[in-house]
Amino acid sequence: MLAQIDSVEVARVILHIADEIHSKVDYLTELDSQLGDGDHGNNLDRGFAEVRRRISEFKGNDVGALLELTGSSLISMVGGASGPLLGTAFEKAGRVVQGKSRIGVAEIAVMLEAADAAIATLGGAKVGDKTMLDSLHPAAEAATRTSKEGETDLVRVLEEVVAAANSGLETTKTLVAKKGRAMYLGERGLGTYDAGAASLCIILEAALGALRRLDQRGTC
Ligand code: ADP
Ligand code: MG
Repeated sequence: MLAQIDSVEVARVILHIADEIHSKVDYLTELDSQLGDGDHGNNLDRGFAEVRRRISEFKGNDVGALLELTGSSLISMVGGASGPLLGTAFEKAGRVVQGKSRIGVAEIAVMLEAADAAIATLGGAKVGDKTMLDSLHPAAEAATRTSKEGETDLVRVLEEVVAAANSGLETTKTLVAKKGRAMYLGERGLGTYDAGAASLCIILEAALGALRRLDQRGTC
């Protein structure tokens, strides 16, 4: 059972997120082409390539600093709405675990809540506006609920988080966008997933995949 991970393991999780975003660029391009301008996949891929480069130079054991570096890399390299939003989310998630060399379930919950609040504050969107918040908000709620229930297994918590995020993503098909470029499509955007909500699911699923691998390694 995996109850905590250190900064080296958090770096592995982030690198796996970068890999998964890279392998899903075409899917994200396709979604953003239907509702927006088609740059979301390449935006994130460029950002996570910079994250990969900066992480390779990272020294120290502060998980918060690692997440802040991830956020600032995304902000510096990702054009479009998603760069500042996602970058600030990583930065704020880093700030709430600043100075910690290990994180567990309680930290994951406060990190996701901080990320959710950061995006809501910066972008002004609410749940139901067909944005990345539609998958992130239920994900943060699931982390907080499972943490309060006393769950200490990171893999189990991430399974709940991913399930909640995917349910949120499903709802975006039924929503008319109130924020972002998709807003201009109005009802013509019905039936299509929001690209940012989809990339949030990829990020959380990649984190789960990396944690499962770390968990299996520990039991071998
Ligand atoms: P752009 O829309 O500038 O081309 P991207 O394509 O990289 O940027 O990102 C689009 C995604 O950003 C959308 O699918 C949506 O999830 C998210 N987004 C856009 N505006 C907002 C906002 N105000 N709040 C939250 N998320 C937003
Ligand atoms: Mg776009």
